[in-house]
Amino acid sequence: MPVAVVVLRETAEGERRVALTPDVAKKLKSRGAQILIESGAGESAYFSDASLGASEVLSRSEALARADVLLAVQPPRIEDIAALKAGAVVIAQLQPHRDPARVQALRDRPITAFAMELLPRTTRAQAMDVLSSQAAVAGYKAVLIAAEAAPKFFPMLTTAAGTIRPSKVLIVGAGVAGLQAIATARRLGAQVEGFDVRPETREQIESLGGKFVDLGVSAAGSGGYARELTAEERERQQQALAEHLKGVDVIVTTAAVPGRQAPRIISAAMVAGMKPGAVIVDIAAETGGNCELTEAGRTVVSPNGVSVIGTVNLPASAPIHASEMYARNLYNFLELSLADGTLSLDWDDELIAKTCLTREGRIQHEPTRQLVEGVTP
Ligand code: NAD
Repeated sequence: MPVAVVVLRETAEGERRVALTPDVAKKLKSRGAQILIESGAGESAYFSDASLGASEVLSRSEALARADVLLAVQPPRIEDIAALKAGAVVIAQLQPHRDPARVQALRDRPITAFAMELLPRTTRAQAMDVLSSQAAVAGYKAVLIAAEAAPKFFPMLTTAAGTIRPSKVLIVGAGVAGLQAIATARRLGAQVEGFDVRPETREQIESLGGKFVDLGVSAAGSGGYARELTAEERERQQQALAEHLKGVDVIVTTAAVPGRQAPRIISAAMVAGMKPGAVIVDIAAETGGNCELTEAGRTVVSPNGVSVIGTVNLPASAPIHASEMYARNLYNFLELSLADGTLSLDWDDELIAKTCLTREGRIQHEPTRQLVEGVTP
């Protein structure tokens, strides 16, 4: 029997992406896989059942029971995990640190679960990197939301009624989302600045036409990520930033430290020193926010008239392109193990081994195992 790849309707609130597109379905079939979908799986991203070219369109429970591989955007619900065959493979963003009960359910079923967030960020893995592809969507959308909410134009305008000065836009955090935000704000004509604690971002920010804001703090960590700042470094960063923010019209914050709460960078006192009408869009809202006033899923207006927008799941707001990139990432990952309609996992491949969350009744990812089982090595 060819390997059965299953895709369901996403059930998380507000989720509009899907883990399969017509293009990826074709590629999977050419590798000998059989595609089974739940009816309406791609509807919220405008992909009809017919366009996905599945061999069968099934009910949710039938699809789950027949899955050899389940592809998903959000982590499956615990009842869905229980409906899968023992030994089935799940590939999704599993948010391992968020819900220990779900990790236990994956461990105990047992499921061979791959959490795409754990994928090593090597050159070979770039085409599979869902964090990057979805962060790019978030950075783009965040700037559009800011432009819409701002009481000013972004570009400089020369009109018969006089010259309008361009908005000053600051992007905090220049990773994948931040760099996309810088590029988007530049295209809209704003005067753009960026800052990050990783010094190598200076060149990247400048190459996109942004100005690097040097706050005198560097926190280059391992594997290309930032490390947490010390208390003294944070204090220095804060003082320099408070002064700088007084002249800014729009801020988009994207700062993150993997596996931790988002760093608090903009305090309520800093917001109180900003111009009335200024706008902050906080992409990090779901992990606690980069701004002290941020509330996930809400817009908070400070007493001095600064709007703080706590965006959640921005990639879901561009479901066609976000799904296209996400589904391709998953295909590129699955392709490592798929030939002639059969699945064969090479545990000597570090991309497979390190992305694995649970397998054969064991939590493979050590930090998650400690979190869930409370056992230190
Ligand atoms: P991320 O989402 O974890 O963090 C976003 C940004 O916030 C990072 O640039 C980080 O330095 C910054 N940040 C953290 N704390 C901060 C603070 N206190 N103040 C200001 N900024 C702060 O990062 P990401 O976008 O996923 O990627 C991080 C790096 O990894 C980038 O250099 C990226 O190019 C690299 N990367 C490599 C690969 C690959 O080679 N396969 C793939 C993706 C990303």
